[in-house]
Amino acid sequence: MSTMNLILMGLPGAGKGTQAQKILEDFDIPHISTGDIFRAAIKNETKMGLEAKKYIDAGNLVPDEVTNGIVSDRLAEADTKNGFLLDGYPRNIDQAHALKEIGEKLNKPLDGVINIHVEPDVLVERLSGRFICRTCGATYHKLYNKPKVEGTCDVCGGHDFYQRDDDKPATVKNRLDVNVKLNTPLIDYYGQEKLLYNVDGDRDIDDVYKDIKHILDNL
Ligand code: ADP
Ligand code: ADP
Ligand code: ZN
Repeated sequence: MSTMNLILMGLPGAGKGTQAQKILEDFDIPHISTGDIFRAAIKNETKMGLEAKKYIDAGNLVPDEVTNGIVSDRLAEADTKNGFLLDGYPRNIDQAHALKEIGEKLNKPLDGVINIHVEPDVLVERLSGRFICRTCGATYHKLYNKPKVEGTCDVCGGHDFYQRDDDKPATVKNRLDVNVKLNTPLIDYYGQEKLLYNVDGDRDIDDVYKDIKHILDNL
């Protein structure tokens, strides 16, 4: 296959970031997470970051015109020539339509959409136990996915970890509600487009990845 233009879908906590880390070990395409882009912009206190922060801190979505613009610019960059792995975008049908237009404009049509399915009640526990390496962004869980050596990042050897503000219980609930409502129509849409691959995400991380690897090897 010539390109791997992919979307990784799933509710917050489904394991998109965790599986993306594994995909990148096997496939040479950039991981493009709109959440990561927003968090970097907030950290750097850019105009866009300050705007986005108001929405993110409440567990709401950043407006489409902001988000679509970011993705359009990012997919125009040279490192996406063999493909890309979008994570956290699109989040609603309007964004899916915008992505289709961006793909047509850049001649980068989608090749597949991997949907990691996990029931929402499992996700509350996943999100509240999540912690992240400040140096490289690798994601861990205090029970289910600990670093091999306690206090040391497997990926970069860093020692500085943090918990996301929006993973606090008060925000988690609203975030899940917002995303559950938007998710179903998106899944239907990509099913109709014949791009959808469903994966059961409520299993060990390595078992989930085996399914994903199989799908990607056969695209
Ligand atoms: P999650 O763990 O919720 O999947 P993300 O890192 O993807 O988290 O997103 C964090 C927050 O960033 C979201 O709650 C939302 O406010 C904002 N965000 C990320 N992607 C999008 C998007 N495609 N559209 C609008 N807002 C987004
Ligand atoms: P997303 O990017 O979809 O929001 P993450 O990859 O950050 O999700 O995973 C959310 C949390 O759940 C993290 O703490 C991660 O270590 C943990 N996690 C990911 N996949 C699994 C799994 N299959 N089983 C148990 N915990 C998992
Ligand atoms: Zn790290």
